Amino acid sequence: MTLYNLELEKVTRRIHDMGARVVGLQFPEGLKIHATQVARHIEKETGARVIISADPCFGACDTADRKMAGLVDLLIHFGHTALPLDYPVPVMFIEAYSQLEVKESLQNALKLLQDYHKIALATTTQHLHFLGEIKDFLEDHGKEVVMSSGTSTRLGQVLGCNFSSIKNLDAEAYLFMGSGNFHPLGIKLFTHKPVIIADPYRGEARDIEEFADRILRIRFARITKAREAIKWGILVSSKEGQYRMDLAQDLKESLEEQGKEAFIIMMENLSPDLLLPFLDVDAFVVTACPRIAVDDSNMYKKPLITPQELEIILDERKWEDYQLDEIMFG
Ligand code: SF4
Repeated sequence: MTLYNLELEKVTRRIHDMGARVVGLQFPEGLKIHATQVARHIEKETGARVIISADPCFGACDTADRKMAGLVDLLIHFGHTALPLDYPVPVMFIEAYSQLEVKESLQNALKLLQDYHKIALATTTQHLHFLGEIKDFLEDHGKEVVMSSGTSTRLGQVLGCNFSSIKNLDAEAYLFMGSGNFHPLGIKLFTHKPVIIADPYRGEARDIEEFADRILRIRFARITKAREAIKWGILVSSKEGQYRMDLAQDLKESLEEQGKEAFIIMMENLSPDLLLPFLDVDAFVVTACPRIAVDDSNMYKKPLITPQELEIILDERKWEDYQLDEIMFG
């Protein structure tokens, strides 16, 4: 049905065991295309009625449990690992492991890792089940492999907002298995070591160095522009896993102490349209998902800044100590 294992047998077994009559389904954007097929399968196999969430979903920080409370007996959340949050309805997390081959990308990565002996491994939820195979592969080629679990993350797992598993690993280089640049960028910025990406979707490997340099240049430009801002918006998301009101209040105080105006602005999903009416605000600090300011910055007309970048603007942090923002769940 898909490149990912949606574990539908496990899902239907749980629905039967619970005697659930109404079931909610939630998918990240890349898996939503399978929503109606999954719903049809569940309705046919269990007799339960299904309600599909269409709201955007980018992480386990963003489960539909509160919206579906009182409507469903069970919510099935696909594509992410559970976080230590409180859920008002039972939530079953299906991690949706990738079924792609990783060998080709690993072989290509090995060439880029030839100068390093001690390698740390990291990946996202979809490829966690390959870590054993990747470790064996590297060890068979004479490498020493290290991994660790982090705060709210599993062995070798990184989230876009949590890199605790790769800190303090004392490796010469890092191998990230997965697609996209954001996670390896985080590893690079937290470790300052070489980071190689093995991308199983393309069967290729690449170094994050050039991308990291480009992003740092863009961030430097945003920070420079935001230094001129007098009136600030501090953006808070109402999503349970992204809600950081205490941080927003601290940032407001810091800005006001330096003679700036600062307003806390709350929303569920941040988007460029939502900020358009705030014509008199010069720049925004994002306390919601840490990826927004960095990944989506070119969608916004005004500078979007992370809390750590604001510290640089307020001369509380040096540019040399630039870090991505993180959320420590639990
Ligand atoms: S806050 Fe952002 S990076 Fe963290 S889990 Fe949620 S969507 Fe992913």
